[in-house]
Amino acid sequence: MKETIIRATGKTVPLRYVVVSLREAMDEIGARHGAEGWMLERMSECAIASFFLSSSLKCAGALSLITYWDGEVSRIESDTTPMGLVRARAVHDEVLALGPRVPEATPVRMETRRFDEKGKILAHSVVNMGKASVAQNLAVYLFQSEQVKAAVGIQAVADPENPARLKMAAGWMIEAFPDCDAASLAKAEEVARNLPPLETFLTPEGFDEHALLSALAGDVDVQIHREIDPKPFCPCSRERMRNNVIALGKKQLLALRDEQHGAQAVCEFCRTEYDFTEADLDEMIKGLGK
Ligand SMILES: [Zn+2]
Repeated sequence: MKETIIRATGKTVPLRYVVVSLREAMDEIGARHGAEGWMLERMSECAIASFFLSSSLKCAGALSLITYWDGEVSRIESDTTPMGLVRARAVHDEVLALGPRVPEATPVRMETRRFDEKGKILAHSVVNMGKASVAQNLAVYLFQSEQVKAAVGIQAVADPENPARLKMAAGWMIEAFPDCDAASLAKAEEVARNLPPLETFLTPEGFDEHALLSALAGDVDVQIHREIDPKPFCPCSRERMRNNVIALGKKQLLALRDEQHGAQAVCEFCRTEYDFTEADLDEMIKGLGK
């Protein structure tokens, strides 16, 4: 079964629906990070939440969602675009130290940043996270920051046989447009409350997003507007990494050149390694002048 991001609206009722299944994309991203079990699940949930927010971006921008934690894990982040691109990161040392374990960590806050297509920040919001799930925090965020009434469900489950792979990573959101009447809203809330567990929609062929959408719709007639393939993507480049190395400053560059005879920079999002030789460093130092 093909994984997509489905966007739909009610034909006669002003409700908006988003359904996401992200297992394949997050398996690939997780493998690059060495993320397993709890960490892979939380990275996936962050990415799904990020997709819910980026799906309403009007422009070709991006949305960054960061959850901050206190304990063995400090932050988990995912950036997504309305076109279905996704990347995610956590602190690499923490990912490796954790393995498939559940950490001693409590959620602290969730931050979101919206960017335009040039990378300029359009909006920045922060909500405190209770012990609640990412989905519950997201619904609170939507209401507090954007005055949007929404119901959200997100669940990622690592494969118990192989915690480096996901069994499921899926989510749904129902959002009420401002003109939605109280009765339709109450009905949608009831459907959301009575939705069976997401694992119900897991079939031998994969996650059945269309079955989930029709369960969410209940007796509302829905029209699908878009189905987009989610794809792992990172815009990092050697040129950008070179600028990061230069930003270390002359003293540090001299030390790298003379003591280590080279440098390696790793992209925290896609784990691509960029190697810089002694000659590269020499050129950077010359470029900085005196
Ligand atoms: Zn990258």
